[in-house]
Amino acid sequence: MKYDVVVVGSGPAGSVTARFAAESGAKVLMVERRQEVGAPVLCGEGISKKVDEFKVLEGKRWIANNMDGARIFSPDGTMVKLSADMAGSETGYVLYRDIFDQELARGAIRAGVDLMLNTCAVDILKENGKINGIKAKQFDEEFDVEADIVVGADGVESKVGRWGGMKTTLKPYDLETCVQYTLSNVELDSAYCDFYLGKKIAPGGYVWVFPKGKDVANVGIGILASLSKPGLSLQLLDKFIDARPELKKGEPLRFLAGAVPVAEPIEAIRDNLLLVGDAARQVDPITGGGLMASIEAGMLAGETIGNAVDEQRFDEEMLSPYEEKLENTLYKKLKRNYAVKEILINMEDKTLNMLADSLKDYKFDELSTLSLLKALVSKHPSLLIKLKPLIKLSKI
Ligand SMILES: Cc1cc2nc3c(=O)[nH]c(=O)nc-3n(C[C@H](O)[C@H](O)[C@H](O)COP(=O)(O)OP(=O)(O)OC[C@H]3O[C@@H](n4cnc5c(N)ncnc54)[C@H](O)[C@@H]3O)c2cc1C
Repeated sequence: MKYDVVVVGSGPAGSVTARFAAESGAKVLMVERRQEVGAPVLCGEGISKKVDEFKVLEGKRWIANNMDGARIFSPDGTMVKLSADMAGSETGYVLYRDIFDQELARGAIRAGVDLMLNTCAVDILKENGKINGIKAKQFDEEFDVEADIVVGADGVESKVGRWGGMKTTLKPYDLETCVQYTLSNVELDSAYCDFYLGKKIAPGGYVWVFPKGKDVANVGIGILASLSKPGLSLQLLDKFIDARPELKKGEPLRFLAGAVPVAEPIEAIRDNLLLVGDAARQVDPITGGGLMASIEAGMLAGETIGNAVDEQRFDEEMLSPYEEKLENTLYKKLKRNYAVKEILINMEDKTLNMLADSLKDYKFDELSTLSLLKALVSKHPSLLIKLKPLIKLSKI
């Protein structure tokens, strides 16, 4: 087999990269080790409505619920309400993630991408030290796929980057371990995605409650791996649910366990090789949301690959516009949020409570550093010293 590009993984990052590369004229193969695109689902299924602006999805079949915004609960239960616009990358729609991934893959296929399911990349091919494809396995049969560019869109456990000599190891401090139930028979009359913070609730992470419909919700927890031990995330999630009558009588339709990188983005290009999505750690380190970033980066990756195929040059320099554009856009936000993550993780519950108390009546549609400061000073002036590093970052 001979292609211009082989994309490993058919998640959002892989499908969008494949589509944009094919639309730019490249001959693309996407391989997926699972037997169905998007399944099993490993996701809280929250996404910002800004996803519409990318224009990569047709129809509305992938939307399970339309949200008005987010509510953040501090450890003592104080609530801060954010409109969907202000709520970040995980609030706006609750998805059917399997249909969402399939719609993105359909877009790729319409653009001319070949998709092989049940096909696992098992190694990278090299000739005279130069990457020139992958070795893949379908059922028990191994075969080679030759390609000028290999794209690693193989998610959090990515191996493609490592095979290509990149440093992809994640420290426990940069990884959230997650479990989630999709509960039916819950009583939620809310148009908000809820986030619960606190060292006793979810050390280094949060509990989320995302309503998928009138009586179904995704209820999950993410804990920083460096603060976790075996079984702790499930224990804390069960405790959270047991304490809430509206959730307690729910029965799970689905259970999942997974991990999210909350690291800074890593090196994403080498000669003939490019990483995208979770594989490149393109995830918001505060929320663990990676869907928006995967799509944004996938579009840039696909366009860059298209240009490389036009020029028939596949070296690092030719692929560098991908990283350069990311540095000026997405990475600015991800790097700032990584610094904010460090501050939030070390914040005492008492400080979080004071912060929430200061912000609970704040009008977030008038968001500016000055008005935020006014809100903090008027209620808890001592917060200003504690939040100095955060205030500095807001000026980046
Ligand atoms: C519990 C949980 C909840 C989350 N909730 C949210 C949320 O609410 N909102 C949000 O924005 N983000 C959320 N995320 C993060 C989000 O799911 C990821 O950021 C997103 O899926 C990244 O997309 P991707 O295409 O890079 O990787 P993935 O979606 O993981 O896709 C990678 C694909 O590569 C395939 N693959 C891997 N290795 C190989 C191989 N060797 N050969 C062939 N195929 C291979 C996999 O089977 C998979 O299909 C959550 C993550 C978890 C674990």
